[in-house]
Amino acid sequence: MHASRPNLAHSDRYSLPEMAAESRDAASSLPSRPTAGRCPSCGSPLLLRFLDLRDLPIHTATVLSSRSEAVAIPRANLRLDVCKACGLISNSAFDAPRHDYSASYEEIQFFSPRFRAYAAELAAQLVERHALAGRDVFEIGSGRGDFLTELVSRTGGRGVAVDPSYRDGDLASEFVGRISVDKAFFAAEQVPPNAGAIVCRHTLEHVHDVATFVREVRAGLDRSSGAVALFEVPDTRPVLEEGAFWDLYYEHCSYFTPGSLARAFRAAGLVPSRLERTFDDQYIFITAATGDGGPSEPLPEEETAAEVVALAERFSAAFDEARRHWQDRLGAARGRAARTVIWGAGSKGVGFLSMLGVADEVDYAIDVNPGKQGMFMPGTGHEIASPDRLADRPPDLVVVMNPVYVDEIARDLARRGIETELVTVAGDSTAVAGRS
Ligand SMILES: [Zn+2]
Repeated sequence: MHASRPNLAHSDRYSLPEMAAESRDAASSLPSRPTAGRCPSCGSPLLLRFLDLRDLPIHTATVLSSRSEAVAIPRANLRLDVCKACGLISNSAFDAPRHDYSASYEEIQFFSPRFRAYAAELAAQLVERHALAGRDVFEIGSGRGDFLTELVSRTGGRGVAVDPSYRDGDLASEFVGRISVDKAFFAAEQVPPNAGAIVCRHTLEHVHDVATFVREVRAGLDRSSGAVALFEVPDTRPVLEEGAFWDLYYEHCSYFTPGSLARAFRAAGLVPSRLERTFDDQYIFITAATGDGGPSEPLPEEETAAEVVALAERFSAAFDEARRHWQDRLGAARGRAARTVIWGAGSKGVGFLSMLGVADEVDYAIDVNPGKQGMFMPGTGHEIASPDRLADRPPDLVVVMNPVYVDEIARDLARRGIETELVTVAGDSTAVAGRS
């Protein structure tokens, strides 16, 4: 289950009686399983298996309160197929109806100033671009409501959300009176008639039956005049190019590229109008709306399915090379009795450690999220510590799990007077000289 979170005052939730009944139904209906042997987005049987990994932790965004529980977390397989027709990559070993989605979302990033600034800027841009002032916003997979708060603070309207991992009291918003979150899976009937947008960030990669889900989004858009779908997912292209094994997790069952994302929307009768790469090109942001029924032309940012297949075919070699590089590097550091820590105990950190199968090559993980400190990472069971711990015995090597935060971390280490080598998981290295 989750790390404990800051205790937040929770006042009355927005009261929508007619919605509450529908939400209960939605909560009881579990996500569907796509047809075996078929692409979950376009239905094609032309699938190419390019990766088969066994016994990965089924949850990577969670932390455990003891090392023994962390090591004992259930495991499952990752069998990645790429669709030759649309380019979607999917884990055919994923078990959607039985997956515990309550442990799936990541809130960690809102502890980073860099991420908060990104979210605020994105929210401002969306409100202006889509004239959302005075309208409601519906969000699928809202977590604690951090992003919905950014939106609602600018629209003046209501925020309505669904998230199966939501727990009473989670809402981290000064706008509690205007935001309601239901612990439920998404159903079109939950979208309020005045919604100007259906927002869904970092959730679609957890959806296995992509076609059914996006059709439901279309039905949700049909309930409100002029509403747009605003979706953000990780971009899988850099993962494939760099052999970034730390970005593959069991609970991410669908892996998108700009082209396969746009094609999934188009297949559901939606018209993608914009495809952007965001957050240092780690994410893809798509804007789509219901069309007039006619086919829409591909956007210039869309790569072809054949291009994704080519990347997937090369991935295996890149994956082996990246894994060998880190096994050698961490093994050599241990041989010199050097102390190594990783920075980031979220999914990337769990993926990195469990796919390398490392143990004492890495001392512990640093995380700025106070809810994770003192807890243990699923899979390898590494302890998670606050950055304050670094001063006790400064490490020789710090491996940063998300390169986006490397400057933020370098400044933090320098402020603490810690001299160390700082290297990102992608291999970019800098020395931190400490306070001068
Ligand atoms: Zn397909």
